[in-house]
Amino acid sequence: MKKTTCKNLGGTCDAEIQGETPEEMGEKSKQHVMEMMQSGDQDHKAAVEKMMQLSKEEQEKWYDDFQKSFDSLPDA
Ligand SMILES: [Zn+2]
Repeated sequence: MKKTTCKNLGGTCDAEIQGETPEEMGEKSKQHVMEMMQSGDQDHKAAVEKMMQLSKEEQEKWYDDFQKSFDSLPDA
């Protein structure tokens, strides 16, 4: 199990996100961001909007980099 922070995943806070795989971590990060947005958090909303403005290629590159760096994340 690896861990990172919301901020490291393009978010805005220091909430810890854990996952066994990059996919799982991506899912948990998405859930966290959704929860924060539903509670009316503007920072997370802005972070999502920024992410949505990236082109498909940029989003793929971001995900690729995230998968590559997954192994170097600290163990949870
Ligand atoms: Zn967050």
